[in-house]
Amino acid sequence: MTTGTDHIRHFDGIGPVRFTRSARAGRMRIQVRAGEGVSVVMPLGMVLETAEGFLLSRKEWIQRAQQKFAQVRLSPTVFRPGEAFPIRNYSLKMVKAPGNMLRTWLRDNDLMVSFPETANPEDARVQAFVRKSIERLLKAEALTYLPARTAMFARLHGLSCSGVKVRNNRTRWGSCSSQDSISLNIHLMRLPDALIDYVVLHELVHTVHRNHGPGFHQLLEKVYPGHRKAEKLLRNYSPGVF
Ligand SMILES: [Zn+2]
Repeated sequence: MTTGTDHIRHFDGIGPVRFTRSARAGRMRIQVRAGEGVSVVMPLGMVLETAEGFLLSRKEWIQRAQQKFAQVRLSPTVFRPGEAFPIRNYSLKMVKAPGNMLRTWLRDNDLMVSFPETANPEDARVQAFVRKSIERLLKAEALTYLPARTAMFARLHGLSCSGVKVRNNRTRWGSCSSQDSISLNIHLMRLPDALIDYVVLHELVHTVHRNHGPGFHQLLEKVYPGHRKAEKLLRNYSPGVF
């Protein structure tokens, strides 16, 4: 478990950096993650100035890692008629309709959206409506799927959580509170099933190990073999951008 206060400092050419002290850290570690910025984990006894000095000595390496993430940064989808957008059990279907109204409904396995025949489907008003319709469906899907899936895995592996909340969150796929309450993002419903399971199990394992130390990874690998690969694949998606 991480201990000590977080410090966030800004560095020219790097941006904000979060410093955390951990009893488990044998030496200092620098992490650069897409969407999460740069973080430094340092041993309890290390003074902040030493950590900052080391960070600056790795500035070029950090900048290269940041550039790599910038290239894969996702841009929002432009929804177009005739282009499929999968939403777990559904697929988006956009159709023209007379009048000036935007409408949405479910038909079999399609999320139907109708837009005025006089409007350009790429207009901001149409795009915002489609995005909102998708989010509403994601939430409904998440509510039926995620709590049940979490309960199933908890039973299967003898883990327990005090509850499952479903949230629309821009930054995190999931979290686990100190009271073992798990929050899961409705945007998980845009991911392949295997990655949804990875996030569910990741959070369930946090009810046993609150950190990302060796014990955490050992248990997660036991309940989700190949979890490191899933962790990498997850970086191709963003909860906030679709
Ligand atoms: Zn975690």
